[in-house]
Amino acid sequence: MPNSQSPLTPILRLTAEKRPAVTYAIWLLVLFGVLLVGAQAWSAWSARQSRLAEHAVATSNMAGALASQAESTVRIVDTVLAGVVERIEHDGMTPAAADRLHSHVRNMVKEVKQLHGLFVYGADGSWLVTSLERPVAGNNADREYFQYHRNNPGRGVHIGKPVRSRSSGVWVLPVSRRVDRPDGSFGGVALGTIRIAFFADLYGSFDVGKDGVIFLARDDGILLYRRPFTDSLVGTDVRDGPVFQMVRRSGSVGTAMLRSKIDGVVRLYSYRHLDKLPLIVATAQSKQDILEEWQQSTLLMSGVTLVVVVLLVGVGTRLVRQIMIRDELDAELRIAKADLQERNRELTVLATNDGLTGIANRRHFEDTLRLELKRARRTGVALSLLLFDVDFFKKYNDRYGHVAGDDCLRQVAATLQAKLVRPTDLAARYGGEEFAVILPATGQVGARYVAERLRLALMDLGIVHADNPDGVATLSGGACTYHGTHGEEIDPDTFVRRADALLYRAKANGRNRICSDLDSSSLPAQPSLAI
Ligand code: GH3
Ligand code: MG
Ligand code: MG
Repeated sequence: MPNSQSPLTPILRLTAEKRPAVTYAIWLLVLFGVLLVGAQAWSAWSARQSRLAEHAVATSNMAGALASQAESTVRIVDTVLAGVVERIEHDGMTPAAADRLHSHVRNMVKEVKQLHGLFVYGADGSWLVTSLERPVAGNNADREYFQYHRNNPGRGVHIGKPVRSRSSGVWVLPVSRRVDRPDGSFGGVALGTIRIAFFADLYGSFDVGKDGVIFLARDDGILLYRRPFTDSLVGTDVRDGPVFQMVRRSGSVGTAMLRSKIDGVVRLYSYRHLDKLPLIVATAQSKQDILEEWQQSTLLMSGVTLVVVVLLVGVGTRLVRQIMIRDELDAELRIAKADLQERNRELTVLATNDGLTGIANRRHFEDTLRLELKRARRTGVALSLLLFDVDFFKKYNDRYGHVAGDDCLRQVAATLQAKLVRPTDLAARYGGEEFAVILPATGQVGARYVAERLRLALMDLGIVHADNPDGVATLSGGACTYHGTHGEEIDPDTFVRRADALLYRAKANGRNRICSDLDSSSLPAQPSLAI
């Protein structure tokens, strides 16, 4: 019985080995938990991706709208400029023509809201006509756009670097065209200005979130307008910024997640190069803005998933523990049952076997004899009984001591037991140095034969017995037979007494011999007698 210091470990091992269900349950729980977390992670990831994709489309569309607004703004101003240039080149700059032009440009500035001012400069940069109310003297030969036209015979529109207006002091975007003399030489510049703040009004209605950005730049990287507006950024070079890097990589249209060089915020940028003007417009929404809602719902769902997983683990662990406890109890019960059976078996052996010799005890002998007699009477088959007594055993004890005597008795018992061949034969210690043998289905001749064989077997063992005339331990025996066929009823005691009487006769006749029912007289038996 495994009553070592901790019977729990082998029991748990037993549970694990014999209960694959527990292992399966644990694996199932783990799998379910992993699937749950995996599904949540996957759904959060795909929600994030689709949100980013939706915003990529939205910002790209917005960039398109911004581009077309910027283009139409510049186009309107350019159309007015083209008209002014055409007038100057056609009418010349006579005082009358200058007067008419002055009122024309003033009208234009009033009517075209995109226009901040209109100016005509002579070939030396002097102000010829302005949209200002009163004529003012000034010279703009130092301006970038003036020098551009003076050095370039091209007749197209030129978008200059943002400048602070000399007339009003606000940031303006100069849009200009060259005026040619009739001979084609440089005759001056016509300039229309757009207030940078106009773009702020124009783009104000677009929602790009709290960290969003809109900007308009020349395609050489000069920043014209940026929302949120910072005065110091107007006219700066943003060629090395992330948007222009993307422009160099992807061409006239593009969308990407980039980190701003100006404020370090990561945004989803979308830009577009205007079709016919050297301008680029870009819009961007901060990644944080785009993903804020997603982050909140993901956080909520993750919390719910966590609660479910914790519940799952809790309930699962409890369940598995219950199964294990039940299995432990089952295992303990099995062990206790096996122990009980073993003890019962030991008790049965104790109750039916002789403590010294290990063969059947007297009680067992009597029970068996009673049963066998009944059976013999019922079936009519003969039953024989042998009674043996060790000769001069008192003397053996006296000479060799009790311990040796006990050992001798054990050898006698073992010999009797070993020499019985039928499984139904029973050898028992009847008491002291007396032994009994029940031989079912054995007649007188057979009984005699078996008795002699047993007697000779002990003699052959040669247990030295100096006080026995034969020099070795010997047996005297009585063999009697009950013939069931005669229907004669006999009780066990009478049967034993008959055997005892025959044994007594064997003793009286000189010991080391068998007396049986066959003997008409108690003739001494020869040790070598073969029957
Ligand atoms: P006989 O030849 O007439 O049988 O003489 P005996 O000496 O064998 O007969 P007796 O009945 O006088 O003596 C039997 C002896 O057996 C007495 C007792 O000391 C001994 N004896 C009985 N039971 C045991 C036992 O369990 N162990 C030992 N060592 N001796 C026992
Ligand atoms: Mg005796
Ligand atoms: Mg004796």
